[in-house]
Amino acid sequence: MATLDTMRQSEPVVDPYGRAITYLRVSVTDRCDFRCVYCMSENMSFLPKKDLLTLEELERLCRTFVGMGVRKLRLTGGEPLVRRNVMQLIGNLGELVGQGHLEELTLTTNGSQLARFAQPLVDAGVRRINVSIDTLDAVKFKEVTRWGRLEQVLGGLEAAKQAGLQVKINAVALKGVNEDEIEHMLAWCGAEGFDLTLIEVMPMGDIGGEERLDQYLPLSLVRSRLRKSFTLTESDYKTGGPARYFDVKETGQRLGFITPLTHNFCEGCNRVRLTCTGTLYMCLGQEDAADLRAPLRASDDDAGLRSAIRDAIARKPKGHDFVIDRRSGAQSVGRHMSVTGG
Ligand code: SAM
Ligand code: SF4
Repeated sequence: MATLDTMRQSEPVVDPYGRAITYLRVSVTDRCDFRCVYCMSENMSFLPKKDLLTLEELERLCRTFVGMGVRKLRLTGGEPLVRRNVMQLIGNLGELVGQGHLEELTLTTNGSQLARFAQPLVDAGVRRINVSIDTLDAVKFKEVTRWGRLEQVLGGLEAAKQAGLQVKINAVALKGVNEDEIEHMLAWCGAEGFDLTLIEVMPMGDIGGEERLDQYLPLSLVRSRLRKSFTLTESDYKTGGPARYFDVKETGQRLGFITPLTHNFCEGCNRVRLTCTGTLYMCLGQEDAADLRAPLRASDDDAGLRSAIRDAIARKPKGHDFVIDRRSGAQSVGRHMSVTGG
């Protein structure tokens, strides 16, 4: 395997629409200790463990991408912190930050394991994390996550603060569930020193019973409601992700909106997504994918892998076709968000 010490980092690979691919999201497991109603069905079947790439293989893939111009890596899932020995992978990838090969290593987590992992994450070189919390009401939290406990996540957030991690809260806006709470959540985030990003529910995967139309709350509506209590000024702050940010005068923190349905964010897309089986999705909202496991396992030399990655990026589509309406039904892509990690 080529190491970055022996390999010159190249300029980023550019897709057919002129977008440089500098951001890789890696779903390190499809498993999770929660069963959020908009993400999974209660009786999910997960991949057989034998189909997963090993942590060493995931690391090699990440290093290859970094060698091809990726500057930002986000680990996600499923729940990344439930994968056994994941800190070993995080520690090794963190070294790439220390060596200046990678600008940022970060992760998206449900926070359930943070009490234990906050300090090791900092020690590994992680500086910022996203934690998903859709409600601050313990009863609703249980209803939304099915298996989660708010108290445990709040304990994890406390540990993150103590360890000096910068935290952004992600909340999916859910009609009739948390829509009456969003002002309170924004104020709470302000008091805690967290930015908040609101996400529109995306039509991905069969979630068993729940209707997407019943969950979907357009963020354009949320924003105009929030403007009655908060002064929101559009900001040019960027994290490399799809959110558009506003400064919140009253709290001094930022508020982001991820609006795949009311505002298409594809034109600036710099991302590709890797699953824990080595499948590369060039777009969250399309089915086309490339298998990187075969070239990874075919040789210890990275040449075949690099060429498979280049071919895949050459097929990156212009954008997604998410739509939630009665005609098209509730599902735009068959796989769950936990496969590609959001
Ligand atoms: N388990 C981790 C967590 O919950 O943060 C990481 C993986 S989770 C799939 C990543 C993000 O996707 C979370 O913020 C979650 O709320 C969001 N998400 C999951 N399913 C979604 C859907 N159908 N539409 C919009 N966001 C979704
Ligand atoms: Fe698990 Fe995250 Fe999906 Fe919730 S959103 S079920 S925490 S992967």
